[in-house]
Amino acid sequence: MTTPRNSHLSYSRLTRFEQCPLSYKLHYLDKQQAEPGIPLRFGKVIHAVLERLVSEQVLDELTGPLSEDRAIALYREAWAADGLSGIDVFEEGLHILRDFVREEGVVDHRDVLAVEKEFRLSVGPFTVLGFIDRVNWVDDETVEVVDYKTNRQIFTRDEVDSSLQMSLYEVAARRLWPWVKNVKLTFRMLRHGLRQQTSRTPEQLADALAYVETLGIQTETAKEFPARLNANCVYCDHRMHCKAYAEALQGRPHLVCEDTRDLEAVAREREQVARLAKILYARKDELEGVLKAHLRERDELVLGGVRYRMFNTSSHDYPVDATLALLTDATGQSREELLDKVAVVDKKALDAVLKALGKTLDKPRVALLKAELEAKASTRHTPRFWAKEVG
Ligand code: SF4
Repeated sequence: MTTPRNSHLSYSRLTRFEQCPLSYKLHYLDKQQAEPGIPLRFGKVIHAVLERLVSEQVLDELTGPLSEDRAIALYREAWAADGLSGIDVFEEGLHILRDFVREEGVVDHRDVLAVEKEFRLSVGPFTVLGFIDRVNWVDDETVEVVDYKTNRQIFTRDEVDSSLQMSLYEVAARRLWPWVKNVKLTFRMLRHGLRQQTSRTPEQLADALAYVETLGIQTETAKEFPARLNANCVYCDHRMHCKAYAEALQGRPHLVCEDTRDLEAVAREREQVARLAKILYARKDELEGVLKAHLRERDELVLGGVRYRMFNTSSHDYPVDATLALLTDATGQSREELLDKVAVVDKKALDAVLKALGKTLDKPRVALLKAELEAKASTRHTPRFWAKEVG
């Protein structure tokens, strides 16, 4: 291949092409003005705050808890600079930052190797540019690469294990710090207080680089840039210029299977309808978010002949001992009989007990206990439909 037109490729350029070629064309080739929605802008504001908060700890060579007051001051500054508005979104940011400061605990500046670290990776004829949110020193052989996420949904295990972003970050970390033998890859899910972690084998890293080079060549040689409708269209910063999205909001499928004996046609329409449904649900959530924000300030809204209200649902948990005592008196049945009829052990609570036991008992004993419990458990099977894109 001759020297590429864009020998410098940013990671965001590649992923934009991968996720939707039309969005890539609108953004980089047609240079349409991007109009990021509130979730994207909010994410950038939180990233900017965390970057400065942790950088200051490092630059001032501090060891101790991060300052919540400083986090909030930086947030107010970044919020005003962006021009964001909405008390509900503002409060979400406050919660995220307070939780972050609490979860970080004591931060030793020597444990933070880098913040917003730029990297340039040679990949075939390209140089891939990117930034890693944070790199932590773990021990003399190990670093932890951290990417902050403000997503509402956590990733599936598949998404974490196949993330191209994390593969590139690991390659970058190994080149930036050649002494590193192990790299922990962490998505820090800020809304959930969760760390979703993964790792890569050398083969996976080599595959990722080959894929990045192929993607780079595709961006250079593509003649067509089809719209690729997906559940994230609702956040796309070019959705206002996208005909496919406008049509999707009307819920109109292009492919309608006329003959249900043609299973290929059935599957094609099913996939298209599933995509449309995701887009429509995402749009419904977005619109409901606006209405809910107004319902925080008033009891109800009546719009277009529809009444909107927020209400609380409630559920009851009955304490075992008191409930059995009352039932034993009333029915005359034994406690054991009643226990069999009305009680089951909550799986989450059981898991928590086992996890706590794992800290005091040795592993084989806990494994044996788990096996014994599973043997006593009854299993319910519920048929579920499963679909996943292949190749
Ligand atoms: S709205 Fe969806 S299909 Fe349209 S450009 Fe954006 S990502 Fe692509």
